[in-house]
Formats: sequence, structure tokens, C-alpha cells
Amino acid sequence: MGLLDKLKPHTPPVRPTDVAISPDGGVHVRWDDGKESRFGPHWLRARCPCAGCVDEWSGKRTVGEAQIKPDVRAQNLEPVGRYAARLQWSDGHDAGIYSWDLLLELRREQEG
Ligand SMILES: [Zn+2]
Repeated sequence: MGLLDKLKPHTPPVRPTDVAISPDGGVHVRWDDGKESRFGPHWLRARCPCAGCVDEWSGKRTVGEAQIKPDVRAQNLEPVGRYAARLQWSDGHDAGIYSWDLLLELRREQEG
């Protein structure tokens, strides 16, 4: 067993068991480690990963909290395969695909 084998975590990554729009228009995630996350609508919309919100070449965010209406709400959530969900927002934006990996990153950001 090499050093890398020892460092590599043997537990599989945490995955959502349920992803749904919450009453405030944000998103509620249940995780397979028993935790739950509640992402507020404006906060989550400002983290949209699509090419219209993040420049594909520079990786720089072009649409963030300052560009988004404070009262934005998620209106529809559509599964994408087994790894992501596409969110449709009240401002008409529906290009953002939130992968489970991204949701886990956001959970970590929120937990600090
Ligand atoms: Zn976007």
C-alpha cells in the first residue's frame, strides 16, 4: 500500500437523496449522510454555473449577487440524468445545471 492509498479517503462522496424547491423559492437538499441544506434563492441564483453567468474562458463570474433581483425564486427543478438538476428561475434564466458536486461545494461554502 503506497502513500497515496493511505491518503485517499475510502468513503464515497456525499450525495443528495432528495433535491426540491423549498417554500421560499430556494432549494432544499437532503444528503445521504443524514444532513440537510437549505440554499436561499438569491444566494443560489448568484452561484449559477452556466456559461451565461461565468465566463468560460477566464472562469470569471459575470452574473453574481449584484446583477440579480433580490426577489428571484426558483420555479422549476428538472433532473438531469443521475448527477444534476436544472433550475428554472423567476427571472427567466434556466441554463444553470447544478451538479451534485456543485451542490456539495455550496454546502461546504455555507457550512464555512
Ligand atoms: Zn446562469
